[in-house]
Amino acid sequence: MHIPIQSVTPETGHAEICGFVHEVRDLGGLAFFLIRDRTGILQVTIPKKRASEAVLAAAKAVSRESVVRVTGTVKAIDKAPGGRELVPDTFEIISLARSPLPLDVSEKVSAELDTRLDARFLDVRRPRVHAVFAIRSAVMHAINEYFHNEGFISITTPKIVAAATEGGTELFPIAYFDKEAYLNQSPQLFKQMMMAAGCEKVYEIGPIFRAEEHNTTKHLNEATSIDIEVSYADHTEVMRILEDIIVRTYAYVDKTCSAQLANMEIFDFAVPKAPFPRLQYSEAIAIAQKKIEEPITYGDDIGSAAERAIGAEMGGHYFIVDWPAEIRPYYAMPYEDNPAVCRAFDLMHPRMELASGAQRVHDHDQLVQQIARKGLNPESFDFYLRPFRYGMPPHAGWGLGAERLVMTMLGLPNVREAVLFPRDMHRLVP
Ligand code: ATP
Ligand code: MN
Repeated sequence: MHIPIQSVTPETGHAEICGFVHEVRDLGGLAFFLIRDRTGILQVTIPKKRASEAVLAAAKAVSRESVVRVTGTVKAIDKAPGGRELVPDTFEIISLARSPLPLDVSEKVSAELDTRLDARFLDVRRPRVHAVFAIRSAVMHAINEYFHNEGFISITTPKIVAAATEGGTELFPIAYFDKEAYLNQSPQLFKQMMMAAGCEKVYEIGPIFRAEEHNTTKHLNEATSIDIEVSYADHTEVMRILEDIIVRTYAYVDKTCSAQLANMEIFDFAVPKAPFPRLQYSEAIAIAQKKIEEPITYGDDIGSAAERAIGAEMGGHYFIVDWPAEIRPYYAMPYEDNPAVCRAFDLMHPRMELASGAQRVHDHDQLVQQIARKGLNPESFDFYLRPFRYGMPPHAGWGLGAERLVMTMLGLPNVREAVLFPRDMHRLVP
């Protein structure tokens, strides 16, 4: 049985390891191989005079990134990675890698993101890239555990739907037998319906599809949304859940991913502190007005430039609260005493928006009015409106982008770095 490379120590004695050939060096009398598995790198040293014919033949034939199985004696040696080396009895090539490689895994030659994504299987062999996905996995674990511990029910809602959530243009149409259908842009309507179903606290982690045509470093056409909906809660309560999740997820990564963070050369990982500041939308606009060239006024969306300017001022995670109802979806609850403003919020990282949420309208007739006011036809939302006619608890919720969470946590320059196989306007394969 082979053992993980990180468990190989001089005390191991005899060991069998499996992995990729990371580096090959021939110094005449000695041949060195670095063998890499997901836990680390081990030096295999072949003294040519004493090695068997079979070992020498395999060592000669093997190429970088081939898959090998090596058995031998572990010895302490100062200069090798981890202070140990393996002197092989057997050296078996399990799968020979062709040359040249589409990508240099040892990271000596840097590659463009496109080249890396085209050869993602090789790219993820790099420890610094593997770390991103190991940390993403830890992030998802921490979030799932949080929801489980807090009594949330995990739900799965359809991704093939008949109507747009917000009547937007950002939908991918698909052929559905003899009907036109769409890929869902958000589980919004379904998670709200689960409030009428009495589930009280639900969450869903699943794909959302958006046909956005702009090519940016923070938009994907297929993203992963972490969504919650909670009955008898207002927007302030679900904001507390959100900041709690952010803090705990960072803390979990800090506690369990030190090796991965080191592989990424992140040595100053900081866990944010709650509560995050609550910035009024009107204050956010005032900051942007002072700091950016392009004109921006109350009632405008907060675009990327404004987002970054306000973020620089705030310096950490923060919420933007109390948005004009006009620029939020129909399901956001207006304040009773000031209906032009609604109980909506965005969670912001200094670089960009991470999440949007709100207390929702739970009154049927008010919802119909608000749908119509947005220029949409309430009849095409009947499946959604029906549950509001038979007892609907007040509720609130939010949607958080998993890729943006990982991207901002790890300081990745492009959201595509946080997805194994990103989908964008120019990328459908692999
Ligand atoms: P933005 O204005 O930044 O494009 P949005 O307001 O359209 O985002 P929401 O509908 O509020 O996005 O979705 C909730 C969250 O889901 C966003 O804050 C973001 O983290 C994530 N998200 C939405 N669309 C995308 C996308 N195209 N790519 C990556 N993440 C996304
Ligand atoms: Mn949003």
